[in-house]
Amino acid sequence: MAERILTGIKPTGQLTLGNYIGVLKNLPKMMDRGECFIFIADLHALTLPIDPEVLRQNSVDIASFYLAAGLDPKRVALFLQSEVSAHSELNAIMQNYLYMGELSRMTQFKEKSAKMKESGIGLGLFAYPVLMASDIVLYDANIVPVGEDQIQHVELTRDLVNRFNQRYGNVLQMPKAEMRKIGARIMSLSDPTKKMSKSDPKGDIFLKDDMATVRKKVMSAVTDSGSEVKYDEEKKPGISNLLTIYACLKDITIAEAEKHFVDYRYGDFKKEVAQAVVDELEPFQKRYQEIVDSKSYLEVLKEGARKASEVANKTLLRVKKAVGLLISK
Ligand code: ATP
Ligand code: MG
Repeated sequence: MAERILTGIKPTGQLTLGNYIGVLKNLPKMMDRGECFIFIADLHALTLPIDPEVLRQNSVDIASFYLAAGLDPKRVALFLQSEVSAHSELNAIMQNYLYMGELSRMTQFKEKSAKMKESGIGLGLFAYPVLMASDIVLYDANIVPVGEDQIQHVELTRDLVNRFNQRYGNVLQMPKAEMRKIGARIMSLSDPTKKMSKSDPKGDIFLKDDMATVRKKVMSAVTDSGSEVKYDEEKKPGISNLLTIYACLKDITIAEAEKHFVDYRYGDFKKEVAQAVVDELEPFQKRYQEIVDSKSYLEVLKEGARKASEVANKTLLRVKKAVGLLISK
């Protein structure tokens, strides 16, 4: 079977350099590999409290960032999760095939609910992996490119597919998570033991930061004792993170990046990493702004939802028939 690739981003906050390196930068390569379905996971963004205007603006941003990153709307369906109703319909069916025990073991749920009172945790946050599994199987996706944080959810989706297919025959396509070899987990610049994350922004570089801010953030990134620029996640997490960022942006290996910086001191090293980020983000932001101003993302999203619905509705029908729901038309 040709590759069917599904990937999404939640409009929960300002996109970070982590999202850029983890997902957006790979877009051109991904489009060459197979048929891509790319969505803005706006229903997932509702699983934590969010201001309506912020949610709308974040969704505009993500659509525009995807297009600025080179997404070709003729080859790829780019759509809003909430505009393809099959996601919610399949979710209503699939919630019966994932269990409370396994959902409560999910790291994302544990992390995101840790600071909340139980009485304030929405059911949607707990049931998040059900909707995510529905997102994936709807498109018969066999490849799901993710950063490290979403691996566990794809594994759970695989369990669901096994369970469902054992019971009803070969109805659902088995997906596989795919993680970048380097850059799957860009760390916070202020605490390199924590993931750079848009919903918990500490030490993030945002894709909308101005260039002076970008430079300032890189220059004040937490580094480690010593003076050698060497990759060592345990002893030098800060330096390793900056090396990873540089290597990903320049499309080289960590070893090549280390070699490049072999005679550098931390200060000059940071300056060059900052320049690499600026070189990447400056033209990217310009393209983004043109797309936002022209509102061209609206037509793309509308057409994307139409294309995605065609595929998703077929899967939904297949599932409905398999579980015994009567079809009247
Ligand atoms: P949130 O805090 O809301 O979970 P997030 O920054 O983790 O936000 P997601 O919407 O969960 O972003 O993920 C979008 C995509 O970006 C996913 O494929 C995810 O694995 C990837 N990603 C997220 N953070 C990073 C990171 N720090 N490094 C590399 N990839 C990342
Ligand atoms: Mg995340």
